[in-house]
Amino acid sequence: MSNSYPFELMPLPYDYSALEPYIDTLTMQLHHDRHLKTYVTNLNNTLANYPQYQGWSLERLVTEWPRLPAAISEEIRHNAGGVYNHQFFFNEMAGKPLSPSGSLYEGITASFGSMDAFKKKFTDAALGVFGSGYTWLVANRSGRMGIITTANQDTPLIKGLKPLLCLDVWEHAYYLKHYNVRADYINDWLELLSN
Ligand code: MN
Repeated sequence: MSNSYPFELMPLPYDYSALEPYIDTLTMQLHHDRHLKTYVTNLNNTLANYPQYQGWSLERLVTEWPRLPAAISEEIRHNAGGVYNHQFFFNEMAGKPLSPSGSLYEGITASFGSMDAFKKKFTDAALGVFGSGYTWLVANRSGRMGIITTANQDTPLIKGLKPLLCLDVWEHAYYLKHYNVRADYINDWLELLSN
């Protein structure tokens, strides 16, 4: 799959129903086929008249958008971020279930004391996102883990942080099943963590 212009819609790496009962089939269909697709389309449309940036990778676009011409920088910020964040979110739920022998589990328990302590801290952060955004488990350059939130479609990459887990807390990610109860959605998503 191309990692520069023209960007393609990433196939969902599992069935739409694969995350039931935690995330429902219709939400996955709409989230992937409409929301992610729209970000891909808008990103390509924005880059169409700017061949000098068509070789930029997705990671470069989400990191260096402030250097782009004012006419497109915010469009690139939102749409490249929308593609990056959704690809990360969909991909992370495709792995093997989190197990105590996995590297992610080991890193989390070493950093936060226990898996339960991590889940509590992550949940509090995700509940605290006002409006649309994401909650992330990240690592800094020395490998130290932390939890951050980003607004809208901003990413941790621009802060020099490596994303490890990404939770989409935009309402479209959960409203059909969990209505306005974000806490239930967070609990369900925590069941989908994988190594
Ligand atoms: Mn989303």
